[in-house]
Amino acid sequence: NQPVCECNTCFSGTDCSLFLSDCDVNADGGDPLFLEPFWMQNAASSALVVAGWHRMSYSYKDSSYISQELETHIRKIHAIVGNAVTHKRFLVFGAGSTQLLNAAVHALSLDNSSSPARVVASIPFYPLYEKQTVYFQSADFKFEGDISVWKNSSDTSMNLVEFVTAPNNPDGQMNKAVLKGPNTKTIHDHAYYWPHYTPITAPADGNLMIFTTSKLTGHAGSRFGWAVIKDESVYQKMNDYMGVNTVGVSRDTQLRALKLLKVVLESGGREIFEFGHNTMRNRWEKLSNTISLSNRFTLQQIPPQYCTFFHKVRASSPAFAWVKCEREEDINCYEVLKAAKIIGRAGRIFQGLDQYVRLSLLRSQDDFDLLIHRLIKLVLEENGAK
Ligand code: PMP
Repeated sequence: NQPVCECNTCFSGTDCSLFLSDCDVNADGGDPLFLEPFWMQNAASSALVVAGWHRMSYSYKDSSYISQELETHIRKIHAIVGNAVTHKRFLVFGAGSTQLLNAAVHALSLDNSSSPARVVASIPFYPLYEKQTVYFQSADFKFEGDISVWKNSSDTSMNLVEFVTAPNNPDGQMNKAVLKGPNTKTIHDHAYYWPHYTPITAPADGNLMIFTTSKLTGHAGSRFGWAVIKDESVYQKMNDYMGVNTVGVSRDTQLRALKLLKVVLESGGREIFEFGHNTMRNRWEKLSNTISLSNRFTLQQIPPQYCTFFHKVRASSPAFAWVKCEREEDINCYEVLKAAKIIGRAGRIFQGLDQYVRLSLLRSQDDFDLLIHRLIKLVLEENGAK
């Protein structure tokens, strides 16, 4: 019998009710399915029907690639959440923030300099920054990686592009720009700067900020992100990139994003952010309580802060756990967890140490429950239970 649904790797059978006790638990990718129940609760209001004749053209009436209505809704969301300044800023849309990350590197490194701009980030960092910069090789930029080499450099003539990720993937820290100087430019990746994951402390006001619906509404598959840009010439360069690359973002995707953002705005954001924050907070509490019983593993610490969206001091509820194996013999934490049938992402993938492994807390409730189940077993074994 073929299953009627797509089963989680730990379940099988026609209705996915058969638990495969020997399975590997997936705590790897950043698929944000924790938000799926919210959209099930809002299935009717978020549904979209598009007639065959609608939005066939390459461009909108104003000849742009961008829906003005969607742009207005994005500005509204930032205003009610208080997580970014958008007044007098330009917006560019991308196929996910992924497309915008390279558009930003391209725009910030185009300056007729004889040597390529060096692209850097603080370790541990999101591996796509390197992957993309290397893959789309160009005479204008070169991936350099570890920022610490440049931190104390007296050579201020070098053009540098710094990725600053806040909250950071993998460790949830609110990273700040490290490099200063006239030739340093910054890409602020704020994919996770939403109340689900972190206290909103102030509107972000970077020169070039990147956001995505993937981590706001959870619709990673729709591939929609946006950049908020201060400088008009940088905006022009990113907009040109989008024109040459894909002639802008799919108009169907923009329609779907608009529909979803309308639902988010219906309650002034209260419903989705309460749901998101409660879910992620419960998960973080369960995980911290489990790990607190262990001497073998530790978790990252992030101090609580006043959240201007929820009007209270609150703890962080990060998208990922950055787990450290404390024992000397556990030099490869990924392998330690793999032996316990938990698949995370090894620290070295983020240029970090092998003592660390990233566990995703964003996945479906099934995946999270199985993760906790396996971790409890591991901690009980450590404490002598068989
Ligand atoms: N930035 C960060 C820090 C991420 O973690 C991700 C997704 N995992 C992205 C950007 C890209 O997301 P998307 O292309 O889906 O917008």
